[in-house]
Amino acid sequence: MIKNFEKYLFQDDFNDISSILVEETNVNLKKYLNSEILSKVDVSTIIKLIHLNGSDPFIKQEDICKVLSITKEDLLFYNSILKKSSELQNLLTTIGLASKFLKNTILPVIQSGSLDAFNKKQNYFPFKVGLFVGISCMFECTFCGRNYDAKYNRSTLDAGIEMYKKLIEEAPDNDPHRFYISGGLEPLTNPKIGEIINSLSVKKFKTSMYTNAYMLTEKLLNKNKEIFDLDYLRISLYGTNHEEYLQTTKHKNGYQQVFSNIPKYLKLKKDRGSKTQFGLNYIVLKKYTEKLEILIDKIIEINKEAGFEKNDIDFLTLREDFSVDSEKYNDQEKINLSKLLKKVDKQIKNSSFLKSLHIDYGFALDGLKKGYTKKSLADSFVTEEEFHKNFGVPHASVAVDLYGDVYMLREAAFLDRPGSKRYIIGNLIKDGSMQNIIENYNNNKFKVETKKDDIGYLDAWDHVVIKLANQDDSDRKFGIPFELGPISDKVKKVEKLSHKIHYSE
Ligand code: SF4
Repeated sequence: MIKNFEKYLFQDDFNDISSILVEETNVNLKKYLNSEILSKVDVSTIIKLIHLNGSDPFIKQEDICKVLSITKEDLLFYNSILKKSSELQNLLTTIGLASKFLKNTILPVIQSGSLDAFNKKQNYFPFKVGLFVGISCMFECTFCGRNYDAKYNRSTLDAGIEMYKKLIEEAPDNDPHRFYISGGLEPLTNPKIGEIINSLSVKKFKTSMYTNAYMLTEKLLNKNKEIFDLDYLRISLYGTNHEEYLQTTKHKNGYQQVFSNIPKYLKLKKDRGSKTQFGLNYIVLKKYTEKLEILIDKIIEINKEAGFEKNDIDFLTLREDFSVDSEKYNDQEKINLSKLLKKVDKQIKNSSFLKSLHIDYGFALDGLKKGYTKKSLADSFVTEEEFHKNFGVPHASVAVDLYGDVYMLREAAFLDRPGSKRYIIGNLIKDGSMQNIIENYNNNKFKVETKKDDIGYLDAWDHVVIKLANQDDSDRKFGIPFELGPISDKVKKVEKLSHKIHYSE
């Protein structure tokens, strides 16, 4: 690794290119280039390119030419130079603000071939498929897009379960992490949840589930022992005390029930020798940033209550509130949060009740943790113009509800969410298979008139994939597609996909 890059290049105050960086880059390039080619390279352009690409994962090649006042031919030349050095590749993909986007979504989507298939209108079983199996939900979270009165008709349960089983049968087996069980509504409200977990396990898919844990009681676990066979279980937390839970979920027993279920589940899991990787998810809301420290104390408490002598929670995913209407952190709040994240990081290393807890900071908070306080996920929201050009990439992700409806946008897949049915690209029961649905989509049989407010149907993943599709379109038109861009196309050559959904390491 070129050591001074991390220190200087991605910091907020980057403007002048220090002589140290020039020297380090020169030394590195000498390893890969002969003197004739090296003499044609302006090292400061290389450094600026790493800065631009590493700071903004969605920057278009045409815009890079404009910012650096260089021609397309120059950029093609410099991209080819960047590709030659493994250290420079490492800088591009693992250090800057873009690194989480690249690791969590961009590179996995590119590696999967789903974006290529989308462009070429090829048949492709979606890279990620959400199984939104819940029948109802006991919470009424303030930020949730669902229709609080909506419930699936119980009589459709059996047909829904058969439909999911058929879908799992149909799926190719080249990606063990293709499916995840989530909502929609609360998955544990589905009394046949165990059957779905079992069908995934039989086909050797990694099984993962998100739940609010309200129903994760001993009684339910005894009835649905398959929950202990999950590979990953992630609980969405909506506060750290009774008042916050009540305010967010509107449920008066929410806090008490969830926080008594978690240690009991952990104890049972240990007693049964279950290998499920267990984690918590917490959205760091603007008004509650300081609560993060309380959450960390809660994790210590949970471990103690479960009777453990050390931490037995595998991961904590921290997320910025990405909902379009949410209040965003101001500059001072970002600085404070950045300090807090660093403090939490230290705490984890020093407490035996926290050690081994992996924290995934997600797209936005990862940058803050690294000290980059100028940008946030909000800077990567899909714009109205981008949404009208590209309103989704079903080859990369769909969500399937209990009726078999296949939604191309994840937050549209809430039953009876006003207007969201417009984003159903097919129905697995009527259309027969996912292959038929994607084929119909490729043959332009799906039409939708997009509206500005529809952007609310996108979750963080959808935002990233749509930005990526727009970037890809622009770069192709400009004549610098991904293959000729700055990142080595070696990333495309993976034999087995292994992108995890719940958290990244
Ligand atoms: S966010 Fe989840 S738990 Fe909250 S109301 Fe919506 S579906 Fe239920």
